Amino acid sequence: MKIHEYQGKEILRRFGVVTPRGVPCFSVDEAVEAAQTLGGKVWVVKAQIHAGGRGKGGGVKVAKSLEEVRQYASQILGMQLKTHQTGPDGQKVRRLLIEEGADIRKELYLGMVVDRVTQRVCLMASSEGGMDIEEVAAHTPEKIHKVFIDPVAGLKDAEADDIARKIGVPEASLVEARAVLQGLYRAFWETDASLAEINPLILTGDGRVVALDAKMNFDANALFRHADIVAMRDLDEEDSAEIEASKFDLSYISLDGNIGCLVNGAGLAMATMDTIKLFGAEPANFLDVGGGATTEKVTEAFKIMLKNPKVKGILVNIFGGIMKCDTIASGVVAAAKEVHLSVPLVVRMRGTNEEIGRQILKDSGLPIIAAANMADAAQKIVAAVAGK
Ligand code: ADP
Ligand code: MG
Repeated sequence: MKIHEYQGKEILRRFGVVTPRGVPCFSVDEAVEAAQTLGGKVWVVKAQIHAGGRGKGGGVKVAKSLEEVRQYASQILGMQLKTHQTGPDGQKVRRLLIEEGADIRKELYLGMVVDRVTQRVCLMASSEGGMDIEEVAAHTPEKIHKVFIDPVAGLKDAEADDIARKIGVPEASLVEARAVLQGLYRAFWETDASLAEINPLILTGDGRVVALDAKMNFDANALFRHADIVAMRDLDEEDSAEIEASKFDLSYISLDGNIGCLVNGAGLAMATMDTIKLFGAEPANFLDVGGGATTEKVTEAFKIMLKNPKVKGILVNIFGGIMKCDTIASGVVAAAKEVHLSVPLVVRMRGTNEEIGRQILKDSGLPIIAAANMADAAQKIVAAVAGK
C-alpha cells in the first residue's frame, strides 16, 4: 500500500526525522491560508499523488509571495500530472502540500528496501540526491553506498556515521544525520514498510539535515496490525478495478494488453500471461480467482475484466484440484450469460471432473472455444482477438 508524501513525513517525524513544516490542503483558499499560518517568505506548493518525479512534471513549485502560492496552487490542483511513474495519462492532483521553503546546500539520497538475498533491510545512500537518482543508479552505481542492517542490532551508530561520511555529510552534522538514518530505519521496521525513500535529504545552509521528500510503501500482508496506516489509504490514487476485485477477494492487477485472463492459482496465472506473450499478444490483467471460486466470484471477475474497454477476448485457464472443473464450468456459463459476453472466450481446464466440465460448456449453447492445453488455448485466443 502506498501513501502520500505528507503522510510519509508525518510518520517520519514520529521517529525523530526532521522535515520542513507543512500543511496538507484540498483547495486553493486552504493553500493560501496554510502559507499564512506557516509564515516566512518562501513556500513550496507540492502536488500529492502516489508517484515520484513530480518536480520534473511541474508538480512542485517554489512561491515567493502569497499571490504566487495562490497562482501555483490553482495551477497544480486539478491538473493531470504526468511523470515517469504515472503512465501516459498522468494522475489527477486532488491534494497539495504547502511547505516552508528550505535553504538547500546539498541534495543527498536515502532509500530502504527489503533485500531478499541477505534477508535484511538494505539501506542505500548517495551523495547524488535530487531528481535523477535513477540515472545515478544506471551510470555511476559506485556512487550508491549500501548497508545490510542486522535485524537484532539495528542500524549501529558506527554504521550510520560511516555511511553519512561516505555521502559527504560534514563532521559537524553527523549527529543529526545519525538521527535521520536511525529514525528512518525504525520507521521502516515498526510500520512493516516494504520501501522507504527520502530523496532529497538535504544539508541546509546552516548545517542541518532535513528530509525534503518522503515516500513509503507498506507490506499489505502486515496491514492488519497497522490501523493508523490503513486510515491513510487514498482510494482515489488506486486502480478502480483492483479496488473492486479486492472486495470479492480476487487477486487482480490491471495490465496494458487486450486479453483478459481468469485463472486459479497465482503460479498458473503467471504462466498463462507468459504463454499469451509467447504467442505475440499481451494480457489485459493478472487475475487469480483463488481456490474457492464460486459462481458469484467468477461472475464478478468477468464483470471486472469486461469493464476494461481494451479487453477483446478472454482466456479462462483452470486447474481442477480442490476446485472442481464442473463448478468452474457452471460459473463460467452463468457469468457469460449474465454479462451477455460479446468477446471471444477460450476455456482450457484440466483435472478433477474435467469431462463433466467440458460437457457443461458444450451444452450451454454459448460460442465457447475449448482448448486442449495451454499453448492451444493461448494460440486460439490470440487468433480470435486478431480476427483470424
Ligand atoms: P519529486 O521527487 O516527486 O520530484 P520532491 O519532493 O523531491 O518531489 O521535490 C522535487 C525538488 O523540489 C526537490 O529535489 C527539491 O529540490 C525541491 N523541493 C522540494 N521541497 C522543497 C522545500 N520544502 N523547499 C525547497 N525546495 C524543495
Ligand atoms: Mg523526490
